[in-house]
Amino acid sequence: MSDSDSVDLLVFGGGMAGMSAAARASRDGASVVLVEKGQAIGGSAMYAGFIWTAPTVEVMREVNPNGDMALSAEVVEHYDGAMEWVHSLGVHVADPVTVLGYGRGSQTDMANYLLACERLVREHGEVLTGWSAKRLLIEDGAVVGAEIENGSGEQRVIHARSTLLATGGFGGDPTLRAEHIHPLAENLPLRANTNSVGDGLRLGRSVGAAFGPANAGFYGHLIPSKVAYTNPYEFTDLTFYHSEHGVLLNLEGKRFCDETIGDHLNTLSVLDQPEARALLVYDQRVHDEWMMAPYVEGVEPLDKFQLAYRRGARAAVADDIEEFEALPEEWGYPGEVSRDTLLEFNRQCETGTPSPGRKLDAAPLLTPPYYIIEVIPAITFTFSGLSIDTQARVLDEAGEVIPGLLAAGADAGGVFNRAYAGGLACALVFGLQAAATATAQRAASA
Ligand SMILES: Cc1cc2nc3c(=O)[nH]c(=O)nc-3n(C[C@H](O)[C@H](O)[C@H](O)COP(=O)(O)OP(=O)(O)OC[C@H]3O[C@@H](n4cnc5c(N)ncnc54)[C@H](O)[C@@H]3O)c2cc1C
Repeated sequence: MSDSDSVDLLVFGGGMAGMSAAARASRDGASVVLVEKGQAIGGSAMYAGFIWTAPTVEVMREVNPNGDMALSAEVVEHYDGAMEWVHSLGVHVADPVTVLGYGRGSQTDMANYLLACERLVREHGEVLTGWSAKRLLIEDGAVVGAEIENGSGEQRVIHARSTLLATGGFGGDPTLRAEHIHPLAENLPLRANTNSVGDGLRLGRSVGAAFGPANAGFYGHLIPSKVAYTNPYEFTDLTFYHSEHGVLLNLEGKRFCDETIGDHLNTLSVLDQPEARALLVYDQRVHDEWMMAPYVEGVEPLDKFQLAYRRGARAAVADDIEEFEALPEEWGYPGEVSRDTLLEFNRQCETGTPSPGRKLDAAPLLTPPYYIIEVIPAITFTFSGLSIDTQARVLDEAGEVIPGLLAAGADAGGVFNRAYAGGLACALVFGLQAAATATAQRAASA
């Protein structure tokens, strides 16, 4: 084991939250060590593009009513300041656009942002890739650093005034998913970096951090079943965002949710269905108007149905609704019931009362041909996590601050609860809050 180092801020996780915190603290004069488990920094943030959130606290509350009010308001209120920080690093940020119908944000050159952060940290401190935490060090109830190790078994002790957990949540761990999300979540495909397996959660829990809220769900999307989903740069190409304009049928051939509220929420609803799978059905109108249009302004449209079909998805095209009677038996969906559900759906839309309701798009599916594809939920990151306050300080079961310990990004729970308004913005804002807390801690100890 090498000699003990001593720094102002020790960060676990080189994704959006960790790099933002480490870079900001470095620029503000703190000494920083950033520990990243992967061979390179970036995390899921490397595959992401739009830094966005709800434009006002009111909209945040409307779309995310069960989220922690103080934490979710923090994201909205600090968004502009956080974007100024991104700008200040010389990173290209496009003009703001509408995201998911209710959000506002900007496409951002994430690779350059993360590299600019890395440069800043290296100027003033250290970036260790291929290293991870072994355990947190605790003295008189305060976290004072950690023991870290790399793949070759080398170990180091790093003492730190503040230690930030920003390891990206537990979306990559099947056992934790089954325990905290849903028994069927064990088998969910991952649409994120593969290193976020709950290390921050375990480290926090080991020193008494509270975890929650229960059953908060996750951010994810519907993807085709039967298709290998392993290339991160294909995650968005094979995401069926336009499910919100189609109809979803479960294994009983029935609708089960208001599909129009959002594909990310349809994802949670499909997980609650038998075998966590569903048929997505839409007509040529939806295909042309929604799938072949950019999901967010500035993103190239793509024929995802064709791509998925070529990759071996369970997919078919029907000339009319009567053809649903002949759905392949091995898929397991009752053909006649599915046909009747779709006919009834169209009848209900024409009288204006579909059930379940259709808040945002109650147009019937009347323009053949019909596209049919089986979809399953895929997970990007988890919403339950370590309890924090607005300064990113980790709290124990009694709601008391655990001195020296911070958490941000997907390691922190409660910001979103079965709802979503921007993972990058959340990680950025709380990463910067963590940096401010660590810098204040440094000043107080000087
Ligand atoms: C394909 C895709 C597209 C997306 N698009 C968008 C978008 O446009 N807008 C948006 O708002 N959000 C988007 N997201 C979500 C966004 O990327 C996340 O919300 C955000 O990256 C979360 O930040 P984080 O720091 O918590 O986690 P991450 O950015 O994932 O970083 C976590 C890091 O911790 C590391 N780590 C794990 N365990 C350890 C350990 N023990 N020690 C050290 N390091 C560890 C991981 O390797 C990783 O580098 C997208 C995600 C994906 C996958």
